[in-house]
Amino acid sequence: MPAEDANPLAPERVARAVEEACQAFADARTAAELKEARIAHTGDRSPLALANRAIGTLPGPERKDAGQRIGRARAQVAQALSAREQEVVAAELEARLVAETVDVTVPVASAPVGAVHPITALMDQMCDVFVGMGWEVAEGPELEAEWLNFDALNLGPDHPARSTADTLFVDPVDHQTVMRTHTSPVQARTLLTRRPPVYVVCPGKVYRADEFDPTHLPVFHQIEGLVVDKGITMAHLRGVLDHFARAMFGDIRTRMRPNYFPFTEPSAEVDLECFVCHGESVGNPDRPCRTCSSEGWIEWGGCGVVNPRVLVACGVDPEVYSGFAFGMGIDRTLMSRNNAADLRDMVEGDVRFSRSLVGMAR
Ligand SMILES: [Zn+2]
Repeated sequence: MPAEDANPLAPERVARAVEEACQAFADARTAAELKEARIAHTGDRSPLALANRAIGTLPGPERKDAGQRIGRARAQVAQALSAREQEVVAAELEARLVAETVDVTVPVASAPVGAVHPITALMDQMCDVFVGMGWEVAEGPELEAEWLNFDALNLGPDHPARSTADTLFVDPVDHQTVMRTHTSPVQARTLLTRRPPVYVVCPGKVYRADEFDPTHLPVFHQIEGLVVDKGITMAHLRGVLDHFARAMFGDIRTRMRPNYFPFTEPSAEVDLECFVCHGESVGNPDRPCRTCSSEGWIEWGGCGVVNPRVLVACGVDPEVYSGFAFGMGIDRTLMSRNNAADLRDMVEGDVRFSRSLVGMAR
């Protein structure tokens, strides 16, 4: 081995160290490889670091010359390293962007979104009709005082509806609380807490000790309307029900049949003209109608002029004010409007049922 090769400061050795360093940097493809090359060629044990340390051993005149040579070489290596670092970082970023590209145009399987229950949707739709006429929506508790559920509504202690066959009494019985059997106690609550004029609609759940079969549920939904103002007559009731029916079912007629309810006098049943056959199925065996059982009319609810005794019980002077009230089942309205055959489907939580009905209701 020639003498100058053993000397780490020999110009040829320095030039070769620079060349090897630059080559190693150029060969490095990743940040990790480049780090290895950097340690090998610029670290404490690299040829140039050893050469740098050897400068101190030279006699004065040679020291300056060798120092300049090593300094230039180290600057050259540092510059090559820095340039390569930028290239490697840019290349790695580019590779990551390609690998992580998201194609936003690719179709994805959409997760089904939730929806309101058809009963809730219909209840909201019904309330909207009345809110549109400037009425208020009132709500009351489902666990109700027996007095508000019955007595305030002129249902005396001997009325058949108070028997335990229909009403769910809550233990202990002497606390006189019931699961409300209708939304009518909200009417009494409304009259007890505000002065006429009153224009309210009360939707909600009601409870009866009923069978659980295709046409009965022990828990169902009602909507009630109550108006108390000066000069209110049966004609106003008729107009409101006609408007309500048209808003829900389109261009159809209503009719009233005399009936008896303790809290209204006079009282009537309200029927809807069949919105499917418009009465054409009546006496026509060739065109039977499933919706109205070929009767031409569908029972919808009860209504009447508020009994003065109810007004008195709620502290309203019947000599000054009069009013009307009506109520209908929301579940049955949904059933007839959407041709649902079984009331139980509405509470069993099968999303296929809910999804098909919400689509139709909107
Ligand atoms: Zn019909």
